[in-house]
Amino acid sequence: MAPRIVVAGSANMDLVGLAERLPLPGETVLGDDFVMMPGGKGANQATAAARAGGDSVFLGAIGSDAFGVTLHARLSAAGVDVSHMRTSYGASGVAVIMVDHAGENSILVSPGANSAFTDLTEAEARLIAGGDVLLCQLEIPVATVTAACQAARAGGARTVLNAAPARELPTELLAAVDLLVVNELEAQTIAGSERPDVAALLALVPRVVLTLGSAGARYADRDGRDETVPAFPVEPTDTTAAGDAFTGALAVAWGEGRDLMEAVRWANAAGAACVRKLGASNALPTRDEIDGIYNS
Ligand code: ADP
Repeated sequence: MAPRIVVAGSANMDLVGLAERLPLPGETVLGDDFVMMPGGKGANQATAAARAGGDSVFLGAIGSDAFGVTLHARLSAAGVDVSHMRTSYGASGVAVIMVDHAGENSILVSPGANSAFTDLTEAEARLIAGGDVLLCQLEIPVATVTAACQAARAGGARTVLNAAPARELPTELLAAVDLLVVNELEAQTIAGSERPDVAALLALVPRVVLTLGSAGARYADRDGRDETVPAFPVEPTDTTAAGDAFTGALAVAWGEGRDLMEAVRWANAAGAACVRKLGASNALPTRDEIDGIYNS
């Protein structure tokens, strides 16, 4: 049976405008292409988990605007259970992204409904407790992430925290995290160190996965395991959402009861499948695509 992955997190509409160069403060620049795509780390990772073969449930909040309708439709078309998602009166979360021809970007995130995802309801807590794995990120209020991890603990579900965007983490939250997933920059912020210090992270949580981009990922735990699993060699096209593909797949593999080192290897295949394709949430790979790279 597919493992039940409950994702408590954000949903955003990404509004992406391309221009020859980014406007300076107060300046208007005529751009060229414009695209709109569903994003937010929570929604992306819920989609990644569903595509990777998980029974994926999304808990989060969309606004009462047209973006909310699209976000709902996209998640549900991806096979994510959105029946417990909240709709709050007002704006959905939006990311306004400007990209220049050299690939440089400026991003403004307006959290909208995501910041209204507070005070976990009893029904939400029950759902989390009944899942196999709870997966969270840090684009919703940290008190909600903490309450979700505590509900998972109380019900015997495993907790995975992808600490992005990185910030200092409260002790109550750290105490309820089974596995921390971070990239190198996030690791530095959380450990408060100049370089990614895995030992410092293991003083905070029992298991750590450090993603290393084209170098793959490193797994370390308090039992003394510490290994780097190399990435699958692929021709990268666009690394957007690679971390989301990786984390969603990792949660599914762990929920299936696979050994974490093997789960990391499989998640590397998901990350590699994602970077081969142009785009963000639309580039999140299916289970067949992941297995194709994993078995290659
Ligand atoms: P983030 O995007 O969150 O910073 P990373 O860049 O570390 O995360 O990428 C996440 C995962 O995606 C990596 O651990 C790796 O498995 C995969 N990945 C990223 N870039 C590449 C690449 N160029 N080739 C193969 N796999 C990659």
